[in-house]
Amino acid sequence: VDPPETTLHAFRDAVRRAPEHPALAYFDARLDYRELDELSDGFAAHLAARDFRRGDRLALVLQNTPHFVIALLGAWKAGGVVVPVNPMYKEREVAHVLSDAGVTALVCSGHAWEAFLRRTASDSPVRLAYTAEERDLQTRNDTRVLPGRPAPRAEDATDLLRAARSGGRPPADREPGAGETALISYTSGTSGAPKGAMNTHGNIAHNAERMRAGAGLGDGVRIFGLAPLFHITGMVVQVATCIAGAGTLALAYRFEAGVVLDAFAEHRPAFTVGPSTAFMALAAHPSCTRDHFSSFAMIASGGAPLPPALVEKFRADFGPYIRNGYGLTECTAPCASVPPHREAPVDPVSGTLAVGVPGADTLVRILDEDGREVPFGEPGEIVVRGPQVVPGYWNRPEDTEAALPGGELRTGDIGFMDPDGWLYVVDRKKDMINASGFKVWPREVEDVLYSHPAVREAAVVGVPDPYRGESVKAYASLRPGARAEPAELVAYCRERLAAYKYPREVEILPELPKTASGKILRRELRVRA
Ligand code: ATP
Repeated sequence: VDPPETTLHAFRDAVRRAPEHPALAYFDARLDYRELDELSDGFAAHLAARDFRRGDRLALVLQNTPHFVIALLGAWKAGGVVVPVNPMYKEREVAHVLSDAGVTALVCSGHAWEAFLRRTASDSPVRLAYTAEERDLQTRNDTRVLPGRPAPRAEDATDLLRAARSGGRPPADREPGAGETALISYTSGTSGAPKGAMNTHGNIAHNAERMRAGAGLGDGVRIFGLAPLFHITGMVVQVATCIAGAGTLALAYRFEAGVVLDAFAEHRPAFTVGPSTAFMALAAHPSCTRDHFSSFAMIASGGAPLPPALVEKFRADFGPYIRNGYGLTECTAPCASVPPHREAPVDPVSGTLAVGVPGADTLVRILDEDGREVPFGEPGEIVVRGPQVVPGYWNRPEDTEAALPGGELRTGDIGFMDPDGWLYVVDRKKDMINASGFKVWPREVEDVLYSHPAVREAAVVGVPDPYRGESVKAYASLRPGARAEPAELVAYCRERLAAYKYPREVEILPELPKTASGKILRRELRVRA
């Protein structure tokens, strides 16, 4: 069966097949497919009536709430391009995205509007503003009080749900094709100013269908939205995959371990995806039990390294096997994953867990510095060609040429392949530590630290050293109630790693700094060191 060309096609199909099936669950609120269709039609009509044209950009500055999905589908139905923005961004960061993408319409919470977006928007091309009041979500099944503070009335912004309920249908000629841009997704900008990757409707529909079919998620599947929707993994593997399977997506505003565990108990999801740090936080929560995971058929980790010790500890303590997956914003979330009924092997030399096997229609090659393919087992840069790879960055032809020569994505990650087709990610090219001329990959050292029973989170960085050039320093946070002295952790690594690799210093912090999508920020630790 050919996958639907776009997520809007898949959505229409789901509305036809299962109009009364809940599409979204948010605490006590439910929105079925027909309601979601009507609300997104209404929002599309509202936009179109206000001169929002095909290809215009609409920013979503929202946490994980149903408003995100209503506005996303509405903007697409109006022919628009959606620009997801991290709601934790400060004024300066949002302003960069709004002006870089030439955003003319935005949806945000009333608080963000009052706090600074009203001001930021007036200095940018934004002329249509909508506020989403999480507390006002009234559905046919009605609701209780939802998280989010009661919002002030924003006079110069329209309430999103009021606009969506004003009725109407989008103009018929707005339907975007598979080759058109669906999202401009900004990278987190560890390597310069954030760039907007242009994910097409075809990129998204492809990965959503591959995820649904590949993970064996049946029709009506219940998915829990652990990853933030503004991040590509959350958007594709949660929203688009859910729509592809006419399933229900349960959302819980933002990641908070206790709230998430309650939501697992209430919604009994069969599938979730999140960064490995989310699973570390759930496992460390005092009320986490095996029962919380009894409804799951599959748990996937993506977007960040998955330490093999976490997979084993998690299985022993709570039951499920965490399935690894590798992806980037530029390949619209996953491009390699662990197939169902298989387990990722661990490389015997480095102790790295495989990230998966590339999809059937995806070509992954490992290249040396001269652009030649290396033999199995040898590390080199991972490059990807396939139907999920973006055509380029918004308004950045030079960056596009550098990262996507001939349409093949240079990931900036170092990895290797084994003869059975498993892909391993060693680390990011730019995070390599050069200690007395020896290459040290932080990941390998972190994996060793994770195997220590007291360690909850670990991150390794290079610090300037007068003799070695750089030396290896580790940061760790501990599991609740566990104790370990820095010297003990240094000794633990020393026993298991070559002399040039083990950290000369370990610093213990209550928690390690992370991005809003849950990745540990080595960059911040490097500055601190
Ligand atoms: P920026 O590009 O601005 O630095 P970012 O790299 O955090 O931001 P993403 O596209 O969210 O942007 O992250 C992709 C990166 O995450 C990959 O390049 C890789 O380094 C890492 N990654 C993703 N999945 C895995 C995995 N399973 N194992 C190890 N690393 C992973």
